[in-house]
Amino acid sequence: MPPPPRQRVPEAALAPWTTFRIGGGCRELVHCASPREVTEAVRACAASPDVPWELIGWASNLLVADAGFPGTILRYVQDDLPLEILEDGRIRVEAGAGLDALAAWTAETGREGLICCTGIPGTVGGAIAGNAGAFGEQIATPLFRVELLDRQGRARWTAPEELGFRYRDSGLKRSGDIVLRAEFALPPGDRGALLARREEILALRRSKHPDLAAEPTIGSFFKNLEPTSAAGPRQAAGWFLDQAGARGMREGRARVFERHANIIVADAGATAADVLALSRRMAAAVQACFGIELEREIRFLGRCEGLPGEPEGFH
Ligand SMILES: Cc1cc2nc3c(=O)[nH]c(=O)nc-3n(C[C@H](O)[C@H](O)[C@H](O)COP(=O)(O)OP(=O)(O)OC[C@H]3O[C@@H](n4cnc5c(N)ncnc54)[C@H](O)[C@@H]3O)c2cc1C
Repeated sequence: MPPPPRQRVPEAALAPWTTFRIGGGCRELVHCASPREVTEAVRACAASPDVPWELIGWASNLLVADAGFPGTILRYVQDDLPLEILEDGRIRVEAGAGLDALAAWTAETGREGLICCTGIPGTVGGAIAGNAGAFGEQIATPLFRVELLDRQGRARWTAPEELGFRYRDSGLKRSGDIVLRAEFALPPGDRGALLARREEILALRRSKHPDLAAEPTIGSFFKNLEPTSAAGPRQAAGWFLDQAGARGMREGRARVFERHANIIVADAGATAADVLALSRRMAAAVQACFGIELEREIRFLGRCEGLPGEPEGFH
């Protein structure tokens, strides 16, 4: 049953709201189901500067520390797909909407540009913040503009050029600005071909990724490598991890997924400390074999043991 609009829950568990299903709780969890509710919640947070706060979407890319987060978490997730087609054909969507629901709609209506997002868990806003994508394509490419909310609660529309998109990264990760709405320019495409491509991608994902309901994960733990790095033409972090013997590694109740060496699965009873220890072993194995330093793709929420001096929020 979806929570009622802008429900505030004191001393809430966070694990049930993450795809990893592990980690501690927060002092207050605020469910926001529209741009207006997010705006009101951010303004309320800004009025209490002593209480730390962060925003999450589906938390499909987040490892929550075992100690949890010592403040307020705003969760911006919409169960429907609030979308408008503007006069010039652009699509405007609210950023709490599901990314895969949007990708499915574009295929159904014969629009190119977002098919690469098929099957990626998470919200449209979370995908923009991390420039999510697959098969060499990413969400930033067809993005026309976004409506941002700063941490004081002031909204403005911004062009993508100002968001510093790079591979799996954007300036939003550092500014903390929130995407309220996004507009995409999606050229017309062949509906039949798009629907067929969608089925192909979903089948590929089913064969390579864990079933989230049975094997909780947050997707690829490390970023692929830039072609210019010491890795040369090889780019998939999973390939290096495989060669370095990561498949089969386990720490506590966390293990490397047997079909994809860049994915960590949290078995029942796993802790964030298990995941962190395992990820360190994986990275050390690649460093020892290839002299390559893997960079994390996922983000931490809260203070994780062994990351001293970092802020309480995302790092
Ligand atoms: C099985 C599986 C497969 C995956 N496959 C892929 C893949 O193929 N490609 C890929 O790129 N990723 C993949 N991921 C990772 C994840 O799905 C994406 O990173 C996703 O875009 C995260 O969205 P989210 O809503 O869950 O964000 P969260 O995990 O909740 O948050 C991630 C970051 O985004 C920020 N954020 C969230 N919402 C907003 C907003 N509205 N405005 C501004 N910032 C916001 C948060 O503050 C945080 O810093 C996969 C994950 C899983 C579990």
